[in-house]
Amino acid sequence: MATIKAIEARSVHQIQSGQVITDLCSVAKELVENSLDAGATSIEVRFKNNGLDLIEVQDNGGGISPENYENVALKHYTSKLSSYDDLTTLHTFGFRGEALSSLCALADFHVVTAQAHQAPKANRLDFEVSGKLQKTQIVAGQKGTTASVGGIFKRLPVRRRELEKNIKREYGKVLNLLHAYACISTGVRFSVRNTVGKTKNVVVFSTNNNPTTKENIANVYGAKTLSALIPLDLELEFEPSHAMRRIESDGQSNKIQVRGHISRPVFGEGRQTPDRQLLFVNSRPCGLPQIAKAFNEVYKSFNVSQSPFIFADFRMDTNAYDVNVSPDKRTILLHDAAALIESLKTSLAELFEAADQTVPQSQI
Ligand code: ADP
Ligand code: MG
Repeated sequence: MATIKAIEARSVHQIQSGQVITDLCSVAKELVENSLDAGATSIEVRFKNNGLDLIEVQDNGGGISPENYENVALKHYTSKLSSYDDLTTLHTFGFRGEALSSLCALADFHVVTAQAHQAPKANRLDFEVSGKLQKTQIVAGQKGTTASVGGIFKRLPVRRRELEKNIKREYGKVLNLLHAYACISTGVRFSVRNTVGKTKNVVVFSTNNNPTTKENIANVYGAKTLSALIPLDLELEFEPSHAMRRIESDGQSNKIQVRGHISRPVFGEGRQTPDRQLLFVNSRPCGLPQIAKAFNEVYKSFNVSQSPFIFADFRMDTNAYDVNVSPDKRTILLHDAAALIESLKTSLAELFEAADQTVPQSQI
């Protein structure tokens, strides 16, 4: 019989890294989230060749302190969480300490970072494939951190080939994800650039350090988008389902606020653009297919032939959901999703009933 033995550490690292960084979107997501966690008010994302050659995220956040250089890319080393209990009160995007370590395993990765007192000197950090710090070098740099990811998936040839084949589609998905971060991040100047062939550093989109999400949406999608939108401002309150009552012994009802913007419920204001449906839980962009479906269903009963633009942030207690479902943290488990959706549908129908339902002049 074959002997049962442990997989060597290097292979385990490769296997696990491929689950944290699954595609181009995860690279951009992890780096942008790190910048937001570092308190950045300016974030620039630069692509070369749609991300195939390089994805680089530069921020003006707090930087990494020299005593953390050794640990920054080691697996499960994080400055954000120290015990499992902290997960329920988490207010940062990151907490698993896996992103940088995974990028070391899958790409050419390095960081340039400076804290305020170090600038205009910064440190360039290079890492081994394992995430161990290989060398540091003093370079010029402003306060903040630049993380550079070259040749993503070079050590996973099958995935690299898939990415090359589908790069246009993958790049489109990354832009949609970045739209979500840019729109939700008030008080942050976001800019995204791409260099393809001779067209160098073209600005793909940018936001302007706006105080409101409305202005961010105008920057990202164009000011015209706003005229079709009404504010989304709902208070959902519902009794916990039977199963949840057993877990939450205090038996309190759930309260969730929904803040954002949605298309007016009339023909001409809705658009057939599923990529313009942005959902968030406590400002964390996430795919919530059941909730998106509920929005679309209710909207369809007012405007049969079009889909709405949706920008909706669900604000709730941090123990009303679980982000720790998958290593890439893209799946969010909402406790009591069914009751939430029922309550959402009722409130949405009331909102649309009360909204101005005159068809815009341009459509008559
Ligand atoms: P996590 O975000 O889960 O902590 P990461 O692997 O993404 O794990 O990052 C590891 C650590 O590196 C973070 O906890 C943080 O201390 C530091 N770090 C990463 N990116 C930045 C950045 N842009 N600015 C400042 N610190 C950073
Ligand atoms: Mg992180």
